[in-house]
Amino acid sequence: MTIINITLPMRIIKGLSDYSNVVNEVLKQDISFNILKFSMDSSGTTMLLDVPEDKIKDITKSLKKSNIIVNKKGRVSVDKELCVNCGACVSLCPTDALNLNSTFELVFSEELCIGCNLCINSCPRYAIKED
Ligand code: SF4
Ligand code: SF4
Repeated sequence: MTIINITLPMRIIKGLSDYSNVVNEVLKQDISFNILKFSMDSSGTTMLLDVPEDKIKDITKSLKKSNIIVNKKGRVSVDKELCVNCGACVSLCPTDALNLNSTFELVFSEELCIGCNLCINSCPRYAIKED
């Protein structure tokens, strides 16, 4: 299984039926999948889906046809000068790439980061940036 990060832009969200469209597009591939995260802000709704690796191309094509944005995988970095170790980003990370250590300092693991970008908007200090 592998994780994809998708965004339903606000302009295409009219109601609950739009969310079921996403599910239906993925189910067209005759697979089982997990919704790991679901978050919403003024730009739209972001979902993190865990899907079979060999179906990624078909799923991506199918979602794009419905005007759903499939975000590219990237990595993030944490600016230690800006970070105040508040921990607001930690619980959002689905892979435990962000943690507070025993002295309550933020520890970021590049290795664990899958570039889902869910943490970026959580930081009140704008310390997390997409690489
Ligand atoms: S982008 Fe942020 S939330 Fe996503 S895996 Fe990396 S550190 Fe965790
Ligand atoms: S939310 Fe920002 S300031 Fe708080 S621990 Fe995470 S990176 Fe640091």
